[in-house]
Amino acid sequence: MMRAYFSDDQLRHHGKTFIVAGEKKPIPEVPERAEILRTAIARLGLEVCTPSDAGMAPIAAIHDTRYLDFLQTIYPEWIAAGGSELVIPNIHPFDRNGPYPRHHAGKAGFHLGDTSCPISETTWQSAYASSQTAISAARHVRDGGAQSAYALCRPPGHHASSNLAGGFCYLNNSAIAAQELREKYDRVAILDVDLHHGNGTQHIFYERPDVLTLSIHADPMDFYPFFWGNAEEIGAKDGVGFNKNYPLALGSGDTEFLAALDRAITAIADFGADAVVVALGLDASRDDPFGGLTVSPDGFSKIGEKIGTLSCPTVIVQEGGYVSVTLAENLYQFLSAFGVTNKNTTLSEGPK
Ligand SMILES: [Zn+2]
Repeated sequence: MMRAYFSDDQLRHHGKTFIVAGEKKPIPEVPERAEILRTAIARLGLEVCTPSDAGMAPIAAIHDTRYLDFLQTIYPEWIAAGGSELVIPNIHPFDRNGPYPRHHAGKAGFHLGDTSCPISETTWQSAYASSQTAISAARHVRDGGAQSAYALCRPPGHHASSNLAGGFCYLNNSAIAAQELREKYDRVAILDVDLHHGNGTQHIFYERPDVLTLSIHADPMDFYPFFWGNAEEIGAKDGVGFNKNYPLALGSGDTEFLAALDRAITAIADFGADAVVVALGLDASRDDPFGGLTVSPDGFSKIGEKIGTLSCPTVIVQEGGYVSVTLAENLYQFLSAFGVTNKNTTLSEGPK
């Protein structure tokens, strides 16, 4: 029976505002997202488990110690220096090879890639809980508890690299889950179907041949994160050939998305993946406020169905997907179709 993992601590973080087109706007990555997604889990009848605390080691396997220290200490440092209630950067280095800054504004610019990852008093608590949610789901699958599990992670993670937050993301939950799976499985694929390119995940594994990273997303020439996600980015050094991007023209819908997904699934099969992490963003929805792509609820059902046919041990990690009339429906459609085609996955004990 498929389990869902969720921690209430994930509801504590609220970034409140970010800057778009030079203006302060309400941040769409709100706690309510998780509450809405929970209704889909309830409708599916999945057992909801509270993650156990695996400590810092699995997180430190992906993220730099200095960055993890920053996330835990910058808020009180910022407040003590007279800063506002949100840590938001106002300067960034050309690169990050120089000396590590001592000033709080320097540290914020060093570790926060944009203005959409503000740090509040409760951010670390929620980001940590979000990672523990992914870790518990990954370990449940890795240790033979079930063929697949769903981690309702919030805040999301796929824009965070080893030492940089960005795009509402602080800790890369999908990467952390993949690294957990690597302890048992030789070849792990991370398939990112979020509207936005998974730039953090790509960066983390860019030189590694043991984790295949694939991302289907709105064309970054026209859409966030702008600097990464083109098809030409194929990996580097030992990782050449182990990163695949499938950018789609703005406004693309089910047909284009599913055609890209077919190519990604073929690549995962060719790679010989022993286990899969699905970085499940639902913001490619036609109803999502970001409005980049136009996938329908039936499209999410077909996405789940196709990914299920891989019949690999699979950890589904929630990424983006914002408040809209079909947010819960899209998760419901994805998971129910996935549960039908993924061999050995039973969604629930019976219809509810
Ligand atoms: Zn997204």
